[in-house]
Amino acid sequence: MTDFDVIIVGGGIAGASLGAEIAGSRRTLIVEAESYCGYHSTGRSAAFYLESYGGPQVARLSKASHEFLDRPPADFSDRGFLRTRGDLHITRDELPQLPPSVETRIVERPELEQLVPGVLPRWRRALLEPGCADIDVARLHAAFLGKFRRAGGQVRTVARLHEAKRTGQGWRITFEDRSEIVAAIIVNAAGAWADPVAVACSVAPLGIAPKRRTMVQLRVGRSGLRDLPLVDDASGTFYFKGEGDRSVWLSPHDEIETDPCDAAPEEIDIATAIDRFEHVVDWPVERVERSWAGLRSFAPDRLPVYGFDADAPGFFWCGGQGGFGIQTSPAAAKLAAALLLGTPPELIVAELDPAVFSPSRFS
Ligand SMILES: Cc1cc2nc3c(=O)[nH]c(=O)nc-3n(C[C@H](O)[C@H](O)[C@H](O)COP(=O)(O)OP(=O)(O)OC[C@H]3O[C@@H](n4cnc5c(N)ncnc54)[C@H](O)[C@@H]3O)c2cc1C
Repeated sequence: MTDFDVIIVGGGIAGASLGAEIAGSRRTLIVEAESYCGYHSTGRSAAFYLESYGGPQVARLSKASHEFLDRPPADFSDRGFLRTRGDLHITRDELPQLPPSVETRIVERPELEQLVPGVLPRWRRALLEPGCADIDVARLHAAFLGKFRRAGGQVRTVARLHEAKRTGQGWRITFEDRSEIVAAIIVNAAGAWADPVAVACSVAPLGIAPKRRTMVQLRVGRSGLRDLPLVDDASGTFYFKGEGDRSVWLSPHDEIETDPCDAAPEEIDIATAIDRFEHVVDWPVERVERSWAGLRSFAPDRLPVYGFDADAPGFFWCGGQGGFGIQTSPAAAKLAAALLLGTPPELIVAELDPAVFSPSRFS
C-alpha cells in the first residue's frame, strides 16, 4: 500500500503548478523543506513575462502560457496576473536577434528619449517588445497552491527529503526527521537542489546547475518611473524596471555558479549593477533600498526538463526552469502533467514536442 500516488519534492512554482494539474486524479503530496512554499527562487524573481527570453523553445512555452496568465479560467482566479509595460532592448549598435514569433518594432533615438527620459546618448536605438508584462508572482503561486488543495492535494512544509529507495510499490521516502512515506512516483521539482535530490534517490544527476542572480531596489532622483518599460541591454549586461514612482528594480544580469543555498547578494554585484545603471540613464542614485539574490538553475542545454527518467522507473523530472520558470509555469505544468499521467496534452501545449524537454536527451 502506498501513502500517496505522487510525492512532489519542492513547493515552488514548478511543484505547485504541476500539483494543481494532477491532484484531481492522483493522491498527491507536496513536500517542502522550508517553512513555507516559495521561499527560494519563486519568491525572489524579477517578476516579468518576456516572450523572447530563453530562446525559441522556451519562447514557445512562454507564448503557450500567455493566455492563462492574462485571462485565467474563472475557477482559478477572478482576474489576470499580467500588467503590460513593454520591454526596450536598447543598443549602441546592432539590434538583437529575437525568436521570429515575438512581436517587436524598432525604436530610434528620438522615441527612445521619450520612452526613457534621461537615457544617455550612447544608446542609439532599441527593439521594443510591447508584450512584456509584470507578473503577480505571489498571487499566481498562491492560486496554484489553492487549486492543488481544492483538488485534494496536501502540502507538508519543513519536510526535507533525505533519501528515497525503490520498493515493490514505488518509493520509500525518508525525511530529515526520519519519518517515512511510500509513494508510487517522485516528482523532482526541487529547483536548485534538483541534482542533489536525484542523487538522494540513487538517480543519476543531469547536471542542473544553480547560478546566482542579484536584484537591487534603487531609490533615484527622478520621478514618474513606475510604468516605464523594462529596459535591458541587447547584449545582456543589465536590466531595470520601474518599481515605485522614484524607484527601480535593477539587475547586473549576473550568473554566478554556486552550490544550492539560501542565496544572498554580494557587495561587488550590487556595485556592478549600479555602475552599469549609471552608464544608461542620468538619474541620480540616492540609495539602495533593498537587495536580494536568488538561484536560476539550468540544465546543460539551458532548456527545462520534464519527463520520467529513462533509468529510474517512477522518478519524474520537473527542473531546470532557469530564468523563465514563472512565465512558463502554466504551459509547462500542463505538458508535464500529460507526461506524468499518460494523458493526451491539453490544447495549449498540443503543438509542443515533449522530446525537446525530455531527460532522455542527455543519455
Ligand atoms: C533574481 C531572479 C529573477 C528571476 N526573474 C524571473 C522572471 O522575471 N520571470 C520568470 O519567469 N522567472 C524568473 N526567474 C526564474 C524563476 O524564479 C525560477 O525559474 C522559478 O522560481 C523556479 O521555480 P522552482 O519551483 O523550480 O524552484 P524554487 O522556487 O526554488 O522551489 C524549489 C523548492 O524545492 C525545495 N526543496 C529543495 N530540496 C528539497 C528537499 N530535499 N526536500 C523538500 N524540498 C526541497 C526548496 O526549498 C524550494 O522551495 C528569476 C529567478 C531569479 C533568481
